[in-house]
Amino acid sequence: MQTQLFIDGRFVPALSGETLATLNPHDNSEIAQVSMAGRADIDRAVDAAKAAFPKWSNMAAADRGRLLLKLADAIEANADELARLESLDTGHPIRDTRNLDVPRTAATFRYFGGMADKIEGSVIPVEAGFLNYMTREPVGIVGQVVPWNFPLMFTSWKMAPALAAGNCVVMKPAELTPLSSLAIAELMAEVGFPAGVVNVLPGLGHVAGQYIAEHPDISKVAFTGSTAVGRKIVQASSGNLKKVQLELGGKGANVVFSDANLDAVVQGSAFGIFHNQGQACIAASRLIVHESVADELLERFIALARSIKIGDPLDPSTEMGPLTSQLHRDRVLSYVDIAREQGGRVLSGGKAPDLAALAKGCYVEPTIVAAKPTDRVAQEEVFGPFVTVSTFSSDEEALAIANGTEYGLGAGLWTQNLQRAHLVARQLRSGMVWINCYKRVSPASPFGGVGASGYGREMGFEVMREYTQPKSVWVNVDANIPPYYPR
Ligand code: NAP
Ligand code: MG
Repeated sequence: MQTQLFIDGRFVPALSGETLATLNPHDNSEIAQVSMAGRADIDRAVDAAKAAFPKWSNMAAADRGRLLLKLADAIEANADELARLESLDTGHPIRDTRNLDVPRTAATFRYFGGMADKIEGSVIPVEAGFLNYMTREPVGIVGQVVPWNFPLMFTSWKMAPALAAGNCVVMKPAELTPLSSLAIAELMAEVGFPAGVVNVLPGLGHVAGQYIAEHPDISKVAFTGSTAVGRKIVQASSGNLKKVQLELGGKGANVVFSDANLDAVVQGSAFGIFHNQGQACIAASRLIVHESVADELLERFIALARSIKIGDPLDPSTEMGPLTSQLHRDRVLSYVDIAREQGGRVLSGGKAPDLAALAKGCYVEPTIVAAKPTDRVAQEEVFGPFVTVSTFSSDEEALAIANGTEYGLGAGLWTQNLQRAHLVARQLRSGMVWINCYKRVSPASPFGGVGASGYGREMGFEVMREYTQPKSVWVNVDANIPPYYPR
Protein backbone atom coordinates (compact mmCIF):
# COMPACT_ATOMS: atom_id res chain seq x y z
CA MET A 1 0.00 0.00 0.00
CA GLN A 2 1.43 3.39 -1.00
CA THR A 3 1.00 6.13 1.59
CA GLN A 4 3.29 8.92 0.39
CA LEU A 5 2.88 11.75 -2.10
CA PHE A 6 3.47 10.76 -5.73
CA ILE A 7 5.58 13.55 -7.24
CA ASP A 8 7.79 13.39 -10.33
CA GLY A 9 7.40 9.61 -10.63
CA ARG A 10 8.40 8.80 -7.05
CA PHE A 11 6.69 8.32 -3.69
CA VAL A 12 8.04 10.92 -1.26
CA PRO A 13 7.05 12.25 2.18
CA ALA A 14 5.53 15.72 2.55
CA LEU A 15 8.18 18.42 3.05
CA SER A 16 6.62 19.20 6.43
CA GLY A 17 6.71 15.50 7.39
CA GLU A 18 3.02 15.76 8.30
CA THR A 19 0.60 12.87 7.84
CA LEU A 20 -3.12 12.25 8.20
CA ALA A 21 -4.87 9.04 9.22
CA THR A 22 -7.20 7.23 6.86
CA LEU A 23 -9.81 5.09 8.58
CA ASN A 24 -11.85 1.98 7.81
CA PRO A 25 -15.47 3.13 8.21
CA HIS A 26 -16.59 -0.39 9.17
CA ASP A 27 -15.09 0.05 12.65
CA ASN A 28 -13.25 3.40 12.49
CA SER A 29 -9.89 1.66 12.92
CA GLU A 30 -6.85 3.30 11.35
CA ILE A 31 -5.70 1.76 8.07
CA ALA A 32 -2.64 3.95 7.55
CA GLN A 33 -1.01 7.32 8.05
CA VAL A 34 -0.79 9.09 4.70
CA SER A 35 1.54 11.98 3.82
CA MET A 36 -0.28 15.30 3.82
CA ALA A 37 0.66 17.75 1.09
CA GLY A 38 1.21 21.43 1.86
CA ARG A 39 1.60 24.31 -0.56
CA ALA A 40 5.32 23.66 -1.06
CA ASP A 41 4.54 20.08 -2.10
CA ILE A 42 1.99 21.31 -4.64
CA ASP A 43 4.69 23.65 -5.99
CA ARG A 44 7.06 20.68 -6.36
CA ALA A 45 4.38 18.73 -8.24
CA VAL A 46 3.56 21.66 -10.53
CA ASP A 47 7.29 22.05 -11.33
CA ALA A 48 7.52 18.34 -12.18
CA ALA A 49 4.41 18.59 -14.37
CA LYS A 50 5.80 21.65 -16.17
CA ALA A 51 9.08 19.85 -16.85
CA ALA A 52 7.22 16.81 -18.23
CA PHE A 53 4.72 18.75 -20.32
CA PRO A 54 6.71 19.55 -23.51
CA LYS A 55 7.65 15.93 -24.15
CA TRP A 56 4.29 14.49 -23.09
CA SER A 57 2.20 16.90 -25.14
CA ASN A 58 4.37 16.37 -28.23
CA MET A 59 4.49 12.58 -27.95
CA ALA A 60 2.59 10.76 -30.72
CA ALA A 61 -1.00 10.67 -29.50
CA ALA A 62 -1.16 6.93 -30.21
CA ASP A 63 1.74 6.39 -27.80
CA ARG A 64 -0.05 8.28 -25.04
CA GLY A 65 -3.08 6.16 -25.82
CA ARG A 66 -1.04 2.98 -25.59
CA LEU A 67 0.10 3.87 -22.07
CA LEU A 68 -3.52 4.40 -21.00
CA LEU A 69 -4.43 1.01 -22.50
CA LYS A 70 -1.55 -0.63 -20.63
CA LEU A 71 -2.78 0.99 -17.44
CA ALA A 72 -6.28 -0.43 -18.04
CA ASP A 73 -4.73 -3.91 -18.38
CA ALA A 74 -2.70 -3.40 -15.20
CA ILE A 75 -5.85 -2.36 -13.31
CA GLU A 76 -7.57 -5.57 -14.42
CA ALA A 77 -4.52 -7.64 -13.46
CA ASN A 78 -4.68 -6.08 -9.96
CA ALA A 79 -8.48 -6.03 -9.72
CA ASP A 80 -8.84 -7.97 -6.47
CA GLU A 81 -6.28 -5.88 -4.64
CA LEU A 82 -7.78 -2.60 -5.86
CA ALA A 83 -11.31 -3.69 -4.96
CA ARG A 84 -10.19 -4.65 -1.46
CA LEU A 85 -8.34 -1.39 -0.93
CA GLU A 86 -11.32 0.65 -2.12
CA SER A 87 -13.73 -1.27 0.10
CA LEU A 88 -11.45 -0.87 3.13
CA ASP A 89 -11.00 2.87 2.68
CA THR A 90 -14.52 3.86 1.58
CA GLY A 91 -16.90 1.22 2.97
CA HIS A 92 -18.25 0.22 -0.45
CA PRO A 93 -19.35 -3.41 -0.45
CA ILE A 94 -16.67 -5.57 -2.06
CA ARG A 95 -19.15 -7.02 -4.52
CA ASP A 96 -19.69 -3.52 -5.90
CA THR A 97 -16.01 -2.53 -5.98
CA ARG A 98 -15.25 -5.83 -7.77
CA ASN A 99 -18.16 -5.74 -10.20
CA LEU A 100 -18.57 -2.02 -10.82
CA ASP A 101 -15.85 0.33 -9.54
CA VAL A 102 -12.79 -1.59 -10.73
CA PRO A 103 -14.16 -2.64 -14.16
CA ARG A 104 -15.47 0.89 -14.75
CA THR A 105 -12.10 2.35 -13.83
CA ALA A 106 -10.34 0.09 -16.33
CA ALA A 107 -13.02 0.79 -18.96
CA THR A 108 -12.56 4.55 -18.57
CA PHE A 109 -8.78 4.42 -19.03
CA ARG A 110 -9.32 2.12 -22.02
CA TYR A 111 -11.96 4.33 -23.63
CA PHE A 112 -9.74 7.41 -23.40
CA GLY A 113 -6.71 5.37 -24.46
CA GLY A 114 -8.63 4.79 -27.68
CA MET A 115 -9.62 8.46 -27.83
CA ALA A 116 -6.07 9.82 -27.64
CA ASP A 117 -5.38 9.69 -31.40
CA LYS A 118 -8.90 10.66 -32.46
CA ILE A 119 -9.02 14.20 -31.11
CA GLU A 120 -9.37 15.77 -34.53
CA GLY A 121 -9.53 19.41 -35.49
CA SER A 122 -11.38 20.77 -38.49
CA VAL A 123 -11.06 22.79 -41.68
CA ILE A 124 -13.38 25.77 -41.72
CA PRO A 125 -14.87 27.16 -44.96
CA VAL A 126 -13.84 30.84 -44.93
CA GLU A 127 -13.50 33.23 -47.92
CA ALA A 128 -11.62 32.14 -51.04
CA GLY A 129 -7.86 32.45 -50.94
CA PHE A 130 -7.53 31.43 -47.33
CA LEU A 131 -7.18 28.14 -45.54
CA ASN A 132 -8.51 28.21 -41.99
CA TYR A 133 -8.02 25.19 -39.78
CA MET A 134 -8.63 24.49 -36.12
CA THR A 135 -6.48 22.24 -33.96
CA ARG A 136 -7.10 21.16 -30.38
CA GLU A 137 -4.15 21.75 -28.07
CA PRO A 138 -3.78 20.51 -24.51
CA VAL A 139 -4.57 23.11 -21.86
CA GLY A 140 -1.29 22.55 -19.99
CA ILE A 141 -1.00 21.69 -16.31
CA VAL A 142 -4.35 20.53 -14.99
CA GLY A 143 -5.30 20.51 -11.31
CA GLN A 144 -7.89 17.97 -10.22
CA VAL A 145 -9.70 17.80 -6.88
CA VAL A 146 -11.93 14.81 -6.17
CA PRO A 147 -14.34 13.68 -3.43
CA TRP A 148 -14.48 10.51 -1.36
CA ASN A 149 -17.58 8.81 -2.70
CA PHE A 150 -16.05 7.00 -5.71
CA PRO A 151 -12.33 7.74 -5.33
CA LEU A 152 -11.01 5.00 -7.63
CA MET A 153 -13.51 5.59 -10.40
CA PHE A 154 -13.15 9.36 -10.23
CA THR A 155 -9.39 9.05 -10.52
CA SER A 156 -10.00 7.51 -13.94
CA TRP A 157 -12.76 9.94 -14.92
CA LYS A 158 -10.46 12.84 -14.16
CA MET A 159 -7.05 11.59 -15.29
CA ALA A 160 -7.87 9.58 -18.40
CA PRO A 161 -9.25 12.35 -20.64
CA ALA A 162 -6.71 14.91 -19.36
CA LEU A 163 -3.81 12.60 -20.22
CA ALA A 164 -5.26 11.46 -23.55
CA ALA A 165 -5.34 15.12 -24.64
CA GLY A 166 -1.68 15.63 -23.65
CA ASN A 167 -2.07 17.53 -20.37
CA CYS A 168 -0.05 16.88 -17.21
CA VAL A 169 -1.93 16.35 -13.95
CA VAL A 170 -1.67 17.41 -10.31
CA MET A 171 -4.43 15.62 -8.39
CA LYS A 172 -5.63 15.88 -4.82
CA PRO A 173 -7.76 12.95 -3.65
CA ALA A 174 -10.18 13.42 -0.74
CA GLU A 175 -8.55 13.30 2.68
CA LEU A 176 -10.91 10.49 3.74
CA THR A 177 -10.00 8.17 0.85
CA PRO A 178 -6.52 8.68 -0.61
CA LEU A 179 -5.41 5.05 -1.00
CA SER A 180 -6.84 3.96 -4.35
CA SER A 181 -5.57 7.05 -6.22
CA LEU A 182 -2.08 6.34 -4.87
CA ALA A 183 -2.45 2.72 -6.02
CA ILE A 184 -3.28 3.96 -9.53
CA ALA A 185 -0.21 6.23 -9.43
CA GLU A 186 1.92 3.22 -8.55
CA LEU A 187 0.53 1.26 -11.53
CA MET A 188 1.17 4.26 -13.78
CA ALA A 189 4.82 4.27 -12.79
CA GLU A 190 4.98 0.50 -13.42
CA VAL A 191 3.52 0.65 -16.93
CA GLY A 192 5.89 3.45 -17.93
CA PHE A 193 4.20 6.84 -17.67
CA PRO A 194 7.03 9.40 -17.74
CA ALA A 195 7.88 11.04 -14.40
CA GLY A 196 5.94 14.23 -13.70
CA VAL A 197 3.07 13.55 -16.11
CA VAL A 198 0.86 12.57 -13.17
CA ASN A 199 1.27 13.68 -9.57
CA VAL A 200 -1.06 12.57 -6.75
CA LEU A 201 -1.00 14.52 -3.49
CA PRO A 202 -3.31 13.67 -0.60
CA GLY A 203 -3.96 16.68 1.59
CA LEU A 204 -6.56 18.95 3.10
CA GLY A 205 -9.12 20.66 0.93
CA HIS A 206 -8.72 24.14 2.33
CA VAL A 207 -4.92 23.90 2.04
CA ALA A 208 -3.81 21.72 -0.89
CA GLY A 209 -7.14 21.88 -2.75
CA GLN A 210 -7.41 25.62 -2.35
CA TYR A 211 -3.82 26.12 -3.57
CA ILE A 212 -4.43 23.96 -6.66
CA ALA A 213 -7.39 26.19 -7.52
CA GLU A 214 -5.25 29.32 -6.97
CA HIS A 215 -1.99 28.20 -8.51
CA PRO A 216 -0.72 30.62 -11.19
CA ASP A 217 0.92 27.86 -13.26
CA ILE A 218 -2.12 25.57 -13.31
CA SER A 219 -4.18 26.32 -16.43
CA LYS A 220 -7.30 24.43 -15.56
CA VAL A 221 -8.97 23.01 -12.47
CA ALA A 222 -11.42 20.13 -12.67
CA PHE A 223 -13.42 19.68 -9.49
CA THR A 224 -15.92 17.11 -8.30
CA GLY A 225 -17.53 17.79 -4.95
CA SER A 226 -20.07 19.91 -3.15
CA THR A 227 -21.67 23.03 -4.54
CA ALA A 228 -20.37 25.10 -1.60
CA VAL A 229 -16.74 24.16 -2.32
CA GLY A 230 -17.37 24.56 -6.07
CA ARG A 231 -18.09 28.24 -5.43
CA LYS A 232 -14.79 28.59 -3.52
CA ILE A 233 -12.95 26.96 -6.43
CA VAL A 234 -14.38 29.50 -8.85
CA GLN A 235 -13.26 32.37 -6.62
CA ALA A 236 -9.80 30.93 -6.05
CA SER A 237 -9.35 30.35 -9.79
CA SER A 238 -9.88 34.00 -10.72
CA GLY A 239 -6.24 35.07 -10.22
CA ASN A 240 -4.92 33.55 -13.45
CA LEU A 241 -8.41 33.05 -14.97
CA LYS A 242 -7.89 29.31 -15.25
CA LYS A 243 -10.44 27.15 -17.03
CA VAL A 244 -12.86 25.59 -14.52
CA GLN A 245 -14.95 22.43 -14.72
CA LEU A 246 -17.40 21.71 -11.89
CA GLU A 247 -19.23 18.46 -11.17
CA LEU A 248 -21.26 19.36 -8.09
CA GLY A 249 -24.15 18.11 -6.02
CA GLY A 250 -27.53 16.79 -7.09
CA LYS A 251 -31.03 15.99 -5.87
CA GLY A 252 -32.13 13.37 -8.36
CA ALA A 253 -35.83 13.30 -9.24
CA ASN A 254 -37.18 9.81 -9.84
CA VAL A 255 -40.64 10.21 -11.38
CA VAL A 256 -43.02 7.24 -11.53
CA PHE A 257 -46.06 7.59 -13.79
CA SER A 258 -49.23 5.56 -13.28
CA ASP A 259 -48.48 3.26 -16.25
CA ALA A 260 -44.96 2.33 -15.07
CA ASN A 261 -43.78 -1.27 -14.68
CA LEU A 262 -43.62 -1.34 -10.87
CA ASP A 263 -41.30 -4.37 -10.69
CA ALA A 264 -38.70 -2.41 -12.61
CA VAL A 265 -39.39 0.76 -10.62
CA VAL A 266 -38.84 -0.95 -7.27
CA GLN A 267 -35.53 -2.50 -8.33
CA GLY A 268 -34.27 0.55 -10.22
CA SER A 269 -35.21 3.01 -7.49
CA ALA A 270 -33.54 0.93 -4.78
CA PHE A 271 -30.36 0.76 -6.84
CA GLY A 272 -30.73 4.48 -7.56
CA ILE A 273 -30.71 5.51 -3.91
CA PHE A 274 -29.15 2.69 -1.87
CA HIS A 275 -26.19 1.74 -4.07
CA ASN A 276 -23.00 3.05 -2.43
CA GLN A 277 -25.14 3.94 0.62
CA GLY A 278 -26.67 6.78 -1.37
CA GLN A 279 -23.35 8.61 -1.54
CA ALA A 280 -23.71 9.50 -5.19
CA CYS A 281 -24.23 12.88 -6.78
CA ILE A 282 -26.72 11.21 -9.14
CA ALA A 283 -28.56 9.30 -6.39
CA ALA A 284 -32.32 8.95 -6.92
CA SER A 285 -33.00 10.85 -3.73
CA ARG A 286 -36.54 12.04 -4.50
CA LEU A 287 -39.17 9.46 -5.38
CA ILE A 288 -42.05 11.32 -7.02
CA VAL A 289 -44.98 8.97 -7.58
CA HIS A 290 -48.38 9.23 -9.24
CA GLU A 291 -51.00 9.08 -6.48
CA SER A 292 -52.82 6.12 -8.09
CA VAL A 293 -49.81 3.77 -7.68
CA ALA A 294 -48.19 5.28 -4.59
CA ASP A 295 -49.54 2.82 -2.01
CA GLU A 296 -48.65 -0.29 -3.94
CA LEU A 297 -45.22 1.00 -4.93
CA LEU A 298 -44.33 2.15 -1.42
CA GLU A 299 -45.34 -1.16 0.14
CA ARG A 300 -42.99 -3.00 -2.22
CA PHE A 301 -40.20 -0.42 -2.05
CA ILE A 302 -40.20 -0.47 1.77
CA ALA A 303 -40.14 -4.28 1.79
CA LEU A 304 -37.12 -4.27 -0.51
CA ALA A 305 -35.32 -1.61 1.56
CA ARG A 306 -35.84 -3.69 4.72
CA SER A 307 -34.42 -6.79 3.02
CA ILE A 308 -31.10 -5.16 2.07
CA LYS A 309 -28.23 -6.91 3.81
CA ILE A 310 -26.13 -4.38 5.74
CA GLY A 311 -22.70 -5.41 6.94
CA ASP A 312 -18.93 -5.47 6.71
CA PRO A 313 -17.99 -4.26 3.23
CA LEU A 314 -15.39 -7.02 2.89
CA ASP A 315 -18.06 -9.73 3.27
CA PRO A 316 -19.05 -10.73 -0.31
CA SER A 317 -22.70 -11.14 0.73
CA THR A 318 -22.98 -7.54 2.00
CA GLU A 319 -25.27 -5.34 -0.09
CA MET A 320 -24.89 -2.10 1.84
CA GLY A 321 -21.83 -0.98 3.82
CA PRO A 322 -21.15 1.95 6.13
CA LEU A 323 -21.09 5.59 5.11
CA THR A 324 -17.55 6.81 4.54
CA SER A 325 -17.10 8.74 7.81
CA GLN A 326 -18.61 9.16 11.24
CA LEU A 327 -19.05 12.89 10.69
CA HIS A 328 -20.98 12.22 7.50
CA ARG A 329 -23.10 9.53 9.16
CA ASP A 330 -24.09 12.01 11.88
CA ARG A 331 -24.94 14.58 9.23
CA VAL A 332 -27.15 12.11 7.36
CA LEU A 333 -28.95 11.09 10.56
CA SER A 334 -29.49 14.76 11.47
CA TYR A 335 -31.73 14.97 8.41
CA VAL A 336 -34.16 12.57 10.10
CA ASP A 337 -34.83 15.21 12.76
CA ILE A 338 -34.96 17.95 10.14
CA ALA A 339 -37.60 15.92 8.27
CA ARG A 340 -39.72 15.42 11.42
CA GLU A 341 -39.51 19.12 12.33
CA GLN A 342 -41.21 19.99 9.04
CA GLY A 343 -43.90 17.32 9.35
CA GLY A 344 -42.13 14.54 7.45
CA ARG A 345 -42.90 10.90 8.37
CA VAL A 346 -40.22 8.22 8.55
CA LEU A 347 -41.67 5.22 6.69
CA SER A 348 -38.61 3.01 7.13
CA GLY A 349 -35.12 3.20 8.67
CA GLY A 350 -34.04 6.54 10.07
CA LYS A 351 -31.41 5.21 12.47
CA ALA A 352 -28.28 3.11 12.78
CA PRO A 353 -28.88 -0.66 12.51
CA ASP A 354 -29.37 -2.54 15.82
CA LEU A 355 -26.46 -4.91 15.27
CA ALA A 356 -23.64 -5.20 17.80
CA ALA A 357 -21.22 -6.22 15.03
CA LEU A 358 -21.75 -2.86 13.31
CA ALA A 359 -21.81 -0.67 16.43
CA LYS A 360 -18.38 0.90 15.86
CA GLY A 361 -19.00 1.72 12.22
CA CYS A 362 -20.64 4.50 10.24
CA TYR A 363 -23.82 2.60 9.38
CA VAL A 364 -27.30 3.96 8.59
CA GLU A 365 -30.37 1.92 7.67
CA PRO A 366 -31.99 2.48 4.28
CA THR A 367 -34.27 5.40 5.10
CA ILE A 368 -37.54 6.35 3.40
CA VAL A 369 -39.29 9.56 4.42
CA ALA A 370 -42.63 11.00 3.26
CA ALA A 371 -42.05 14.74 2.82
CA LYS A 372 -43.43 17.77 0.99
CA PRO A 373 -41.43 18.75 -2.10
CA THR A 374 -40.55 22.07 -0.47
CA ASP A 375 -39.25 20.52 2.78
CA ARG A 376 -35.52 20.85 3.43
CA VAL A 377 -35.02 17.08 3.09
CA ALA A 378 -36.50 17.26 -0.41
CA GLN A 379 -34.42 20.29 -1.39
CA GLU A 380 -30.97 19.75 0.16
CA GLU A 381 -28.52 17.04 -0.80
CA VAL A 382 -28.40 14.48 2.05
CA PHE A 383 -25.87 12.23 0.29
CA GLY A 384 -26.88 9.08 2.14
CA PRO A 385 -29.31 6.14 1.96
CA PHE A 386 -32.14 8.60 2.43
CA VAL A 387 -35.00 9.05 -0.03
CA THR A 388 -37.98 11.37 0.18
CA VAL A 389 -41.36 10.36 -1.24
CA SER A 390 -44.09 12.65 -2.50
CA THR A 391 -47.07 12.19 -4.85
CA PHE A 392 -48.51 14.03 -7.86
CA SER A 393 -51.72 13.93 -9.84
CA SER A 394 -50.76 15.36 -13.27
CA ASP A 395 -47.74 15.33 -15.56
CA GLU A 396 -47.41 19.10 -15.12
CA GLU A 397 -47.27 18.72 -11.36
CA ALA A 398 -44.66 15.94 -11.64
CA LEU A 399 -42.45 18.16 -13.78
CA ALA A 400 -42.82 21.13 -11.47
CA ILE A 401 -41.72 19.01 -8.50
CA ALA A 402 -38.89 17.38 -10.45
CA ASN A 403 -37.55 20.75 -11.62
CA GLY A 404 -38.19 22.43 -8.27
CA THR A 405 -34.70 22.38 -6.72
CA GLU A 406 -31.56 24.41 -7.42
CA TYR A 407 -29.84 21.28 -8.77
CA GLY A 408 -29.99 19.73 -12.24
CA LEU A 409 -27.73 16.70 -12.48
CA GLY A 410 -29.59 13.39 -13.00
CA ALA A 411 -33.30 12.56 -13.23
CA GLY A 412 -35.27 9.42 -14.02
CA LEU A 413 -38.75 8.66 -15.25
CA TRP A 414 -40.76 5.48 -15.52
CA THR A 415 -43.59 5.07 -18.01
CA GLN A 416 -44.69 2.74 -20.84
CA ASN A 417 -45.88 5.73 -22.89
CA LEU A 418 -43.26 6.58 -25.51
CA GLN A 419 -44.52 10.10 -26.22
CA ARG A 420 -44.74 11.03 -22.57
CA ALA A 421 -41.25 9.63 -21.94
CA HIS A 422 -39.59 11.84 -24.55
CA LEU A 423 -41.74 14.88 -23.82
CA VAL A 424 -40.94 14.77 -20.11
CA ALA A 425 -37.25 14.02 -20.79
CA ARG A 426 -37.09 17.17 -22.90
CA GLN A 427 -38.65 19.29 -20.17
CA LEU A 428 -36.54 18.03 -17.28
CA ARG A 429 -33.93 20.59 -16.22
CA SER A 430 -31.14 18.08 -15.88
CA GLY A 431 -27.81 17.17 -17.47
CA MET A 432 -28.78 13.48 -17.61
CA VAL A 433 -32.12 11.68 -17.89
CA TRP A 434 -32.81 7.96 -17.49
CA ILE A 435 -36.02 6.48 -18.93
CA ASN A 436 -37.09 3.18 -17.36
CA CYS A 437 -33.68 2.83 -15.70
CA TYR A 438 -31.58 4.87 -13.29
CA LYS A 439 -27.96 5.90 -12.82
CA ARG A 440 -26.58 4.33 -15.99
CA VAL A 441 -23.14 5.74 -16.81
CA SER A 442 -20.63 5.00 -19.56
CA PRO A 443 -17.26 6.48 -20.49
CA ALA A 444 -18.83 7.21 -23.89
CA SER A 445 -21.78 9.24 -22.62
CA PRO A 446 -21.57 12.89 -21.43
CA PHE A 447 -21.89 13.30 -17.66
CA GLY A 448 -22.57 16.56 -15.81
CA GLY A 449 -25.19 19.01 -14.72
CA VAL A 450 -26.81 22.42 -14.90
CA GLY A 451 -27.66 25.02 -12.25
CA ALA A 452 -26.14 24.32 -8.83
CA SER A 453 -24.90 20.97 -10.18
CA GLY A 454 -22.10 22.80 -11.99
CA TYR A 455 -20.87 23.14 -15.55
CA GLY A 456 -18.75 21.28 -18.05
CA ARG A 457 -19.06 17.62 -18.92
CA GLU A 458 -17.07 14.51 -18.19
CA MET A 459 -16.90 11.49 -20.51
CA GLY A 460 -17.44 11.01 -24.22
CA PHE A 461 -16.02 13.45 -26.73
CA GLU A 462 -17.58 16.30 -24.76
CA VAL A 463 -14.89 16.07 -22.09
CA MET A 464 -12.17 16.55 -24.72
CA ARG A 465 -13.51 20.08 -25.16
CA GLU A 466 -12.79 20.61 -21.45
CA TYR A 467 -9.22 19.38 -21.69
CA THR A 468 -8.23 21.08 -24.94
CA GLN A 469 -8.06 24.63 -26.28
CA PRO A 470 -9.04 25.25 -29.89
CA LYS A 471 -6.50 27.09 -32.01
CA SER A 472 -7.61 28.71 -35.26
CA VAL A 473 -4.88 29.04 -37.92
CA TRP A 474 -5.28 31.28 -41.01
CA VAL A 475 -3.14 30.67 -44.09
CA ASN A 476 -3.03 32.94 -47.10
CA VAL A 477 -2.95 30.40 -49.96
CA ASP A 478 -3.36 32.78 -52.91
CA ALA A 479 -0.47 35.09 -53.80
CA ASN A 480 -2.91 37.40 -55.62
CA ILE A 481 -4.83 38.20 -52.47
CA PRO A 482 -3.35 41.09 -50.53
CA PRO A 483 -2.37 40.14 -46.98
CA TYR A 484 -4.73 42.83 -45.60
CA TYR A 485 -8.39 43.74 -45.99
CA PRO A 486 -8.83 45.81 -49.20
CA ARG A 487 -9.66 49.44 -48.55
P1 NAP B 1 -16.38 18.44 -0.82
O1 NAP B 1 -16.40 18.68 0.61
O2 NAP B 1 -16.77 19.54 -1.74
O3 NAP B 1 -14.92 17.93 -1.17
C1 NAP B 1 -14.51 17.56 -2.45
C2 NAP B 1 -13.02 17.76 -2.58
O4 NAP B 1 -12.72 19.14 -2.46
C3 NAP B 1 -12.20 17.07 -1.49
O5 NAP B 1 -10.99 16.62 -2.06
C4 NAP B 1 -11.97 18.20 -0.52
O6 NAP B 1 -10.86 18.00 0.32
C5 NAP B 1 -11.75 19.35 -1.45
N1 NAP B 1 -11.94 20.66 -0.85
C6 NAP B 1 -12.58 21.01 0.30
N2 NAP B 1 -12.50 22.33 0.51
C7 NAP B 1 -11.80 22.86 -0.53
C8 NAP B 1 -11.40 24.17 -0.88
N3 NAP B 1 -11.70 25.24 -0.14
N4 NAP B 1 -10.71 24.35 -2.03
C9 NAP B 1 -10.40 23.30 -2.82
N5 NAP B 1 -10.74 22.03 -2.52
C10 NAP B 1 -11.44 21.81 -1.39
O7 NAP B 1 -17.29 17.23 -1.25
P2 NAP B 1 -17.37 15.81 -0.55
O8 NAP B 1 -18.17 15.93 0.68
O9 NAP B 1 -16.02 15.21 -0.48
O10 NAP B 1 -18.17 14.99 -1.66
C11 NAP B 1 -19.54 14.99 -1.73
C12 NAP B 1 -20.04 16.01 -2.74
O11 NAP B 1 -19.52 15.75 -4.02
C13 NAP B 1 -21.54 15.95 -2.89
O12 NAP B 1 -22.08 17.23 -2.95
C14 NAP B 1 -21.71 15.26 -4.23
O13 NAP B 1 -22.91 15.51 -4.89
C15 NAP B 1 -20.57 15.78 -4.99
N6 NAP B 1 -20.29 14.92 -6.14
C16 NAP B 1 -20.57 15.38 -7.40
C17 NAP B 1 -20.36 14.56 -8.50
C18 NAP B 1 -20.66 15.02 -9.90
O14 NAP B 1 -20.10 14.45 -10.84
N7 NAP B 1 -21.50 16.01 -10.11
C19 NAP B 1 -19.87 13.28 -8.31
C20 NAP B 1 -19.63 12.85 -7.01
C21 NAP B 1 -19.83 13.68 -5.93
P3 NAP B 1 -11.07 17.25 1.75
O15 NAP B 1 -11.16 15.83 1.41
O16 NAP B 1 -9.87 17.58 2.54
O17 NAP B 1 -12.32 17.82 2.35
MG1 MG C 1 -10.98 5.92 4.77
